[in-house]
Amino acid sequence: MSLKLYNTLTNRKEEFDPIDEKSVKIYSCGQTIYDDMHVGNAKTYAAWDILNRYLVWKGYEVFHVMNITDVGHLTDDADEGEDKVEKAAKEKRLEPMELVTEQVRKWYREMDSLDMKRHNVNPRATGHIIEMIQAVEDIIDNGYAYEKNGSVYFDVKKFHEDHDYPRLGGRTLEDLRTGAGGRVSKEELDEKRSPFDFALWIKADPEHMMKWPSPWSLGYPGWHLECSIMGIKYLGERFDIHTGGVDHIFPHHPNERAQDMAIADINEEPVNYWLHSEHITVEGEKMSKSEGNFYTVSELLEEFEPQVIRTFFASIHYRSQSDFSLEVLEESRKKFERFRNTIRNVKGSDNGEKDDLKDDIVWIKEEFQEAMDDDLNTPLAMSKLLEFSSRINKKLDNKKSILEEAKETLVELLGVLGIILEDGEESEGVSETAVKKHIDLLLKIRENLREKSEYDLADMIRDELKKSGIVVEDSEDGPRWYVSR
Ligand code: AMP
Ligand code: ZN
Repeated sequence: MSLKLYNTLTNRKEEFDPIDEKSVKIYSCGQTIYDDMHVGNAKTYAAWDILNRYLVWKGYEVFHVMNITDVGHLTDDADEGEDKVEKAAKEKRLEPMELVTEQVRKWYREMDSLDMKRHNVNPRATGHIIEMIQAVEDIIDNGYAYEKNGSVYFDVKKFHEDHDYPRLGGRTLEDLRTGAGGRVSKEELDEKRSPFDFALWIKADPEHMMKWPSPWSLGYPGWHLECSIMGIKYLGERFDIHTGGVDHIFPHHPNERAQDMAIADINEEPVNYWLHSEHITVEGEKMSKSEGNFYTVSELLEEFEPQVIRTFFASIHYRSQSDFSLEVLEESRKKFERFRNTIRNVKGSDNGEKDDLKDDIVWIKEEFQEAMDDDLNTPLAMSKLLEFSSRINKKLDNKKSILEEAKETLVELLGVLGIILEDGEESEGVSETAVKKHIDLLLKIRENLREKSEYDLADMIRDELKKSGIVVEDSEDGPRWYVSR
């Protein structure tokens, strides 16, 4: 059975044919790391986590890069506004890299908590300024960029004459003139040859904090450039899959594709499959930091087990919009409980004689694969797994060995969807949420003890937690804890 993926480059589902028949290279646009991850961000990362896990399940080796944006993403797409990281750092009175360090730590902790498979590389933009400057020089040399007043712009019209610029999303340059692409700003009129041109290098104002010397000015890179550079550096000039949210369909990804081709001066497509995940909404509006209508991952993890959040993600197709609410998450909790109960039932079952679950195991593997091969149809895969789960429940008088095999199949396939059920986890009968609540309770007791200057007892709680691998950190907002790995 072969995998089909919806390719935004061609606007259709296509059979997946990797450049190297055994291994797959993926680049995913990652977090702009100025604030906490919200459930919308996490839903998009979960989609690529499932893609990665499914490819591995099908027998491929996967090399997955997800960048972390710590410079260059401005509050306005039209090369204007403030740098998001610098703005947030100023508000918190932190050095920008201090904020980034703190946020990166949190991001890893939360990605781990959500059972996202670790990526092979999480490169950061600030670590690749030299490569970016080199690439801008290459693009100028190849005739697709020009310098004006210390900034460098990509010449979209010139590129379009040779290569067809806006192929992603099926738009034409004319559409862009009348649509969202025809953005005009003061800077554009003053400095850009055409409103479609975008900045590769931006001359910094004197008060700008994050800036680097370059042949053109003391400045900083345009946002789109980093993904081209980190993609080329870690995956090569041509690779298999590039992913992002639908907000990247324009202008981020066409700009990235244009840069890729201009840097290497090639005509071939730099990336074969471009995948885009739809947005999570709240009451119909896109969940976003700027709208303030978001739930952070850390606040949800206080109330819900990670598997419940992952059940929610797996229940929606990555290309479908989905409205988020706590009620919807409650539904996911019930769904997840059904899987967990089946697994517990198998553990508590007696040995029977029958063997008639064998066909069901073959059936679910085929159905699962068929659903996932169809552009990662996770909602269909989930409904098949729920049916499989009920079939197991109805046949608990089966032989223990076949029940175990059915249970392992269920655990394995849920794992491909990022819903991780470790074998030993539920045998204690204590959920992860309960453990977290108890740790929080211990920390509250410790705070009380400290207020009463009973430091010996307070320190004892911290030290005992540390022995169990739980590190307590005191911060301005109170104590925090994380699991040391
Ligand atoms: P940002 O930090 O805003 O650059 O976003 C990081 C990633 O999360 C990008 O891939 C975005 O497309 C994605 N994203 C942002 N908001 C949402 C949302 N409401 N639903 C799904 N994905 C989102
Ligand atoms: Zn990107």
